[in-house]
Amino acid sequence: MPGHQGFDHVIVGAGLSGLLLARRLLVAADAGRLPGDQRIALVGPAPDPVQRVTFAHWARRPTMLDDWSVGTWSDLLVVGHDGRARLVDLDGYRYTALSWDRARAALRERLLADPRVTAVAERVDAVGADADVAWAAVGGEHIRGQWGYDSRPPHVDPIAGDPPAVLHQSFRGVWVRTGAAAVDPSAATLLDFSADDGPDLGFAYVLPVDDRRAMVMAVRMGPSTDLPDPIPAVPRVVGAGGWSIEAEERGVTALPARPAARRARPRVLRIGARGGRVRPSTGYAVTRILGDTAAIVGSLARHGHPFAIPPDPRRDRALDAIWLAALARERADLEPAFLAMFRDVPVDRVLRFLDGGASARDVASVVAALPPGPFLGAALRLARERSHR
Ligand SMILES: Cc1cc2nc3c(=O)[nH]c(=O)nc-3n(C[C@H](O)[C@H](O)[C@H](O)COP(=O)(O)OP(=O)(O)OC[C@H]3O[C@@H](n4cnc5c(N)ncnc54)[C@H](O)[C@@H]3O)c2cc1C
Repeated sequence: MPGHQGFDHVIVGAGLSGLLLARRLLVAADAGRLPGDQRIALVGPAPDPVQRVTFAHWARRPTMLDDWSVGTWSDLLVVGHDGRARLVDLDGYRYTALSWDRARAALRERLLADPRVTAVAERVDAVGADADVAWAAVGGEHIRGQWGYDSRPPHVDPIAGDPPAVLHQSFRGVWVRTGAAAVDPSAATLLDFSADDGPDLGFAYVLPVDDRRAMVMAVRMGPSTDLPDPIPAVPRVVGAGGWSIEAEERGVTALPARPAARRARPRVLRIGARGGRVRPSTGYAVTRILGDTAAIVGSLARHGHPFAIPPDPRRDRALDAIWLAALARERADLEPAFLAMFRDVPVDRVLRFLDGGASARDVASVVAALPPGPFLGAALRLARERSHR
């Protein structure tokens, strides 16, 4: 593969984390924080141009994804199994839905127009490093660079137990349109437990972008990869009138029991889901990936390498492990935990807790609000399994 050597950065996977990292590297170079001639190889298949993808996240400040916002809210609804809704004021945060398919196309176009970026639209067979060079193997050739970043989907360890479980978060959503104004766009719904009674933890979220259009997404967390059905959650959003489906979104992510180490090889950093940036207990990743790419660029600017990034607090990892162990066994009991969080804890604490990186006080107030039953059982089981290892 002549010409594919001597990059500064070899980014494997051109999804959310890969594209955001490439963009941030160039912005930092243009601003003089990194040398201006950053040469980047972006290696991975081009996305399906038709598949619609909408991500939601919360933020207090503007982010580099705001240009592709399709809706933003300062209040959220949380709806219990009994249909009772609680309105939560986000206290300075904004919850934003972004069109990732449009953002992805625009980011790719910008990156590919930059002479510092070489796109290789191929799958990578392996990622590795020699003493002073990282590489991505494509069809028997190596693309080499000073630093490698790996965002291929992660390998997933099962949760210990009998039988061991691999847990997934499965999504299926519909964009619905009503003929007359029937949708209330003033608040998005973060969690609606009223329309799901499967054996797994299931809920819907709703992104009402105007008075006739909303995305209704059903989510299921558990061992199954079967896609949930969003249709039962639609009537609460559109009322009794007619509606039609404009588009559908779907996907499955695995929730790793133990995230892999961030540093894969001396010169390779795992990023995105592979680097543990999808919070296993919530499935949220956008805020974490935005923060992570900023930290990587900061590390390069200050230390000349990408590894001086904040580690995940041990307490977050412990809480994720307990949550996943409870999800593997006591899924039905977890709905009250989500509801209690939004009822009893200040919302800024809950949002920091859900994203990861919350302070000890944030965590303490969330833990104090959780019903102890399923979590104590899961914590005891984990402790027992560890002592048997
Ligand atoms: C349906 C769905 C809805 C979600 N909604 C939200 C949400 O609302 N809010 C939120 O915060 N998070 C959400 N997430 C979670 C998270 O934001 C996404 O999973 C996010 O895409 C993770 O980014 P990533 O870069 O790790 O992975 P991806 O964006 O999936 O990128 C990985 C890339 O690697 C490429 N690749 C795979 N194999 C290879 C290979 N062998 N060689 C080279 N490249 C390869 C893929 O083609 C892909 O482009 C959602 C996830 C799904 C699936």
